[in-house]
Amino acid sequence: MTLVQSRHRPAARGITGLSEAVVDLSAVRDNVRNFRKRVPQGVLAVVKADAFGHGAVPVARSAVEAGATWLGVAHADEALQLRAAGLTVPILTWLYDATELMLLGDMDVDVSVSTVAELQHVVSIPSVHYVHLKLDTGLHRAGSAPDQWIELTRTAAHYEALGAVTVRGIWSHLSHGDSADAVQSRRQLQLLRTGVGLTHRAGLRPSVVHLANSAGAITLDAPDTNLVRIGAGLYGIDELGIGLRPAMRLLSKLTQVRRIRAGEGVSYGHDFVADRDTTIGLVPIGYADGVPRAAVRQASVQCRGVRMPVIGRIAMDQFVVDAGDLTVEPGEPVTIFGDGFHGEPTAAEWAEWSGTIPHEIYCGIGSRVRRSYEEGTR
Ligand SMILES: *Cc1c(COP(=O)(O)O)cnc(C)c1O
Repeated sequence: MTLVQSRHRPAARGITGLSEAVVDLSAVRDNVRNFRKRVPQGVLAVVKADAFGHGAVPVARSAVEAGATWLGVAHADEALQLRAAGLTVPILTWLYDATELMLLGDMDVDVSVSTVAELQHVVSIPSVHYVHLKLDTGLHRAGSAPDQWIELTRTAAHYEALGAVTVRGIWSHLSHGDSADAVQSRRQLQLLRTGVGLTHRAGLRPSVVHLANSAGAITLDAPDTNLVRIGAGLYGIDELGIGLRPAMRLLSKLTQVRRIRAGEGVSYGHDFVADRDTTIGLVPIGYADGVPRAAVRQASVQCRGVRMPVIGRIAMDQFVVDAGDLTVEPGEPVTIFGDGFHGEPTAAEWAEWSGTIPHEIYCGIGSRVRRSYEEGTR
């Protein structure tokens, strides 16, 4: 197969294994700069879930190179991975277990606090310095209920005066950040503003206030915040059409090619039956690798510069495409998704085909798919 592949060198470089997720780190940097141009706030790059499947450490480094001043992750392990890789910018983590606090403190990671009980866990661990008090302004997920806020801020001020903790941030999370109608976001901003005022009354002087996610950063004018938390936008998920660049391409190759006759069925259950003689190609990547099974009726991939429909059920490790009467050979590169600029499908299309959002497509790319990194030329 190696020989065949070298005869058919694709325009983009070939891949070495069965499939590969190629991440263009220049796209990540461009996306960070895009936000920095548009909003006055600093950028906290959200690299949770292994940077939405893109690889936390390389993405975090690129985001910082492009001017992100903070990193954000959901889990303690994710924060520790960034520290272990030598990233020194402040990191906020917002989902942790009390048993993980000592490690977080030792690694100088900021933690989110929503309740007095959580705060007490934090102050019981001397190494944890920085907390961000989280106010629930309407998402109704984590965060302090507004009627508990005064008690939380006063308790925090008490512990800060004792030197047990420093309240570095006040924050909240939008429920409708991606909505063009910013009414709910403005309501949440107003509540946060009130919350910050009460924090000051309690004697606290947090240095950062943050509310918006990627879309909210664009839709909500929030001059009284000084950080925005950019996740989706880093990876080029362009919810508002602001010219972001998708950073990941998912590539594979045909490992087998053969003719089938009219009337023959393909893959489990023969959901697809050929209505003419046709050439089929085997693509060695399946739902265990993140190719959503639910996409099958509409899905296509790009091969030889054309869209080839996915036929029959997508299996755990492989699926089949219909090449029609096109001459293709084993080793032919296949683009499962890319930035769409050359007619290939995008992650957004795969999301549409399978009834989800591109975030889930990216996060679902499995651990069997090798990640590689490149610096784009555009
Ligand atoms: C995931 C997440 C973000 C990033 O949101 P995007 O819409 O992906 O930019 C921001 N803040 C919190 C708390 C998150 O969990």
